[in-house]
Amino acid sequence: MCAAIYAARNGAKVTIIEKNTQLGKKLSMTGNGRCNLTNLDMREEYYNAAARGRMKEWLSTFGVEDVISFFKSLGVVVKSEDGYIYPMSGQASTVVKALENEIDRLGIEVVYSEQLKGIEKATEAWDYVVKTDKGRYEADAVILAVGSLSGAKSTMSTGDGYYICKKLGMTVKDTYPALVGFKCAPEENMPSSGVRITAEVSFVLGKETLASEYGEVQLTSEGISGIPVMQASRDVIRFVAEKKPVYAVIDCFPDYDDKDFEALKADMIRLKDERSLDEFLLGFCNSNITDMVLSRMKLSRSMKMKNISVSMAQCILDNFRALRLKIDDSFGYQASQVTSGGISLGDIGSDFAFKQDPGIFCIGELVDVDGRCGGYNLQWAFTSGSIAGTAASL
Ligand SMILES: Cc1cc2nc3c(=O)[nH]c(=O)nc-3n(C[C@H](O)[C@H](O)[C@H](O)COP(=O)(O)OP(=O)(O)OC[C@H]3O[C@@H](n4cnc5c(N)ncnc54)[C@H](O)[C@@H]3O)c2cc1C
Repeated sequence: MCAAIYAARNGAKVTIIEKNTQLGKKLSMTGNGRCNLTNLDMREEYYNAAARGRMKEWLSTFGVEDVISFFKSLGVVVKSEDGYIYPMSGQASTVVKALENEIDRLGIEVVYSEQLKGIEKATEAWDYVVKTDKGRYEADAVILAVGSLSGAKSTMSTGDGYYICKKLGMTVKDTYPALVGFKCAPEENMPSSGVRITAEVSFVLGKETLASEYGEVQLTSEGISGIPVMQASRDVIRFVAEKKPVYAVIDCFPDYDDKDFEALKADMIRLKDERSLDEFLLGFCNSNITDMVLSRMKLSRSMKMKNISVSMAQCILDNFRALRLKIDDSFGYQASQVTSGGISLGDIGSDFAFKQDPGIFCIGELVDVDGRCGGYNLQWAFTSGSIAGTAASL
């Protein structure tokens, strides 16, 4: 939508071919329905390694302020929540509607419920023939903005762009669901009801720490999720997909350094008397986490503390500092917010044109660019969309 608007504002006659029955289905679901458009804390290192080197140039052409001005030009006022930019309305639906209104105003034609199948070189007046499941369109430039594999079924994110681009001769990097939660191994005794705790979660493979994040971690009967898990997932997912033995290590006392935690343990152990293990741990941590720790250690809540050795008591408490959970798999593409991998940036010029055929452009999530959670992926969609839309109309 952004690319179409930029191309049309620049004088091009634009047609959007949309396979869904509506435009911006995924956009309407972003930010829990609030649409986190971008972030004032914008850095190249918040994107995947393959993209970082080129992000500076792209963000200096169309950065955070440009996104804000673009939406202002559509009548969407924004607000910052600790740097996270949302529409003032707090409704993603208003963002989609504002884009649709501009598309209407600019006379952009929108064809719904039609699926792009391929692009071929034309032989006559036009450069390209765009083939769909229902017909064919002639064009002198084509912008592929068909997204990825991530998102609920209703977003129709089925990764069509990958095979279309492969046929055109582009390299498609392996894809993985990213910004996603993880299933834990069945033996991990996950809590039957959901738990949210402020924690530091690290993902380890052997001795290597793959990622560490702090924030509200959610544990359910199936696995772990929440913002810190999703943020870390981008650095972890490849190893999980390769079935490597990855563990999540949850520190339920992230605000304690090692010395403070040792002191806390010593204070607790002074309470070792006639009381039961249940009473001993009552106020230590969330009771569902305690249940988990005790069932994993096969300990009965009714055990008397006086019958538990000091080293055993320390071991129990240490479990809250480093609760190790074996990761089985991710929750998959439909539960993910973004797909890592996609069209290789090596094939794409600075205006997002395919280097071998510069009338074809690739943008947004289709390309091998993914960012952290927090507005970075929509920023990328708007950055690449505006630059490609402008270039395609020249
Ligand atoms: C639940 C959820 C929440 C998110 N929240 C945020 C957030 O708050 N902030 C943020 O920055 N990012 C967020 N994201 C990520 C963000 O939504 C995406 O990165 C962004 O929408 C990608 O834009 P895109 O235009 O490349 O792809 P999409 O938004 O997926 O759009 C692709 C379009 O192409 C159409 N299409 C696909 N194949 C074909 C075909 N063959 N023919 C015709 N049309 C086709 C699709 O129907 C769709 O309309 C979220 C993602 C999800 C799933």
